Amino acid sequence: MEPVRTCVGCRTRAPRSALLRVVSIDSVLVPDERAVMPGRGAWVHPTNECVDAALRRRAFVRALRVSGPLDTQTIEKRLNGYGNKVNGSK
Ligand SMILES: [Zn+2]
Repeated sequence: MEPVRTCVGCRTRAPRSALLRVVSIDSVLVPDERAVMPGRGAWVHPTNECVDAALRRRAFVRALRVSGPLDTQTIEKRLNGYGNKVNGSK
C-alpha cells in the first residue's frame, strides 16, 4: 500500500504519487517533485484549484510552520505548465 497524504488545498486524502510535495526554502515555496527534500513538507494536488485554495487559506504557511509571507512565484510557474494561472496569490 502506498502512503496516503492529505492535500492542503481540498483536504482530501490521496496516495503520495497523486500529490505534489511542497517545501519552503528561505521563504520560497518550492515544488519538491521527487519528494526528497529535507524538512517539513506540505502535500497538495498539482492543480490550480488545490494550490489556489491552499494559498488563499494560507494552508502552506500553517503546514510548513513558517512565519510567512511565502514567495509563491516558483510554485505558480510550475503550475502554469498545467494551464491556467493561479489567482489570488502574491
Ligand atoms: Zn486537493
